[in-house]
Amino acid sequence: MRIAILSRNPKLYSTKRLQEAGQQRGHEIDIIDTMHCYMDITSARPSVRYKGKRLPKYDAVIPRIGASVSFYGTSVVRQFEMMGTYSINESVAISRSRDKLRSLQLLSRKGIGMPRTGFAHHPDKIDDLIKNVGGAPVVIKLLEGTQGIGVVLADTAKAAESIIEAFMGLNASILVQEYIKEAGGSDIRCFVVGGKVVAAMKRQAAPGEFRSNLHRGGSASLTRLSPDERKCAIDAARTMGLNCCGVDILRSNNGPVVMEVNSSPGLEGIENATGKDVAGIIIEFLEKNATPNKTKTRGK
Ligand code: ADP
Ligand code: GLU
Repeated sequence: MRIAILSRNPKLYSTKRLQEAGQQRGHEIDIIDTMHCYMDITSARPSVRYKGKRLPKYDAVIPRIGASVSFYGTSVVRQFEMMGTYSINESVAISRSRDKLRSLQLLSRKGIGMPRTGFAHHPDKIDDLIKNVGGAPVVIKLLEGTQGIGVVLADTAKAAESIIEAFMGLNASILVQEYIKEAGGSDIRCFVVGGKVVAAMKRQAAPGEFRSNLHRGGSASLTRLSPDERKCAIDAARTMGLNCCGVDILRSNNGPVVMEVNSSPGLEGIENATGKDVAGIIIEFLEKNATPNKTKTRGK
C-alpha cells in the first residue's frame, strides 16, 4: 500500500515508528507536513498539492494532527477523503474529539461513565455551578488546554470561586468537574485500534501532583484492565467514531469514568510501558480496512 503520514514533524517518535512499521510490512510510506499541503477545492478531480507537485493517490492516510492545527489539519484530511483515500480517523471524528464539550455531551448521551461535569462561560452564580457537580473539591479545566495545562484542583469552594472568576476574566470557557480523589493521582490510557484495546498503561502523577500527564512528570506502568474498563474504552472510541485513539479513564468508586478521547495518541509512552508494537497494529488495521471510498463521510 501507499500510505501518507500527515505530521508536522518527521522526527517525532510516533511518526518515525509508524514509518518504520509501515516499511517493515512492505508499504511505501511518505511523511507529509499537513500545514504545507494546499489544494484546489473547486477542481472536478480533487487533489492535494505539496511542494509544487500533485500528491499521488494514497491508499490510506494516518493523520497526526496536533491540537493547535486542528482546523486546517482536518480540512486537509477531508480533501483526502474526497479523493477516496481512506483515513484511519475520519475528519469529522477528529473535529468532534477536539471539542471537549461536544465530546463529553456525546459520551454522556450514550451513557458512558464520566465525572460529574459542569460547563460554563460566564456564570452569574458560581457557587451554584460548584454545588451542581457535588461541591468542592473540584477540578477546573480550561476548555482549550492540553497536556494538563489549564487543569487546576480547587480544594475548597472559596478557592474554586476565585479560580473560576480568574478564568472568567480571561473570557475562557471552562469545565468544572467532580474530583475523583480515589484515582489517587493516576489515570489509565487505553489505546484503542479498530474497536479493541490493544495496549493500556497506568500513568501515575509525580508526588504532590494530581495530574498524571507524562508531560507533567507522571510515570507509566503496565496495568490490567477490568472487563468494565475495557468496555468503557471501546464504547467511548465507538461513540466518537475513532478507529484509532487514546481513551483516558479514571478508576472511580462508581467504576471507570472517561476524561477524554485523544485522536492522535502518542506512541512513545504506550510502546515503552507495554513493549507492544502499537505502530505495527495500526498498519495492520489499515491493511485490513483501507479500501477506496470507505471513509463514510467522504468529507461531508
Ligand atoms: P489534558 O487534556 O490537558 O491532559 P485532562 O483533563 O486529561 O487534561 O487532565 C489532566 C490530568 O489531571 C489527568 O490525566 C488526571 O490525572 C487529572 N485529572 C483530570 N480530571 C480529573 C478529575 N476530575 N479527577 C481527578 N483527576 C483528574
Ligand atoms: N501530542 C499529544 C499526544 O500524542 C497530543 C496530540 C493531540 O493534540 O491530539 O498525545
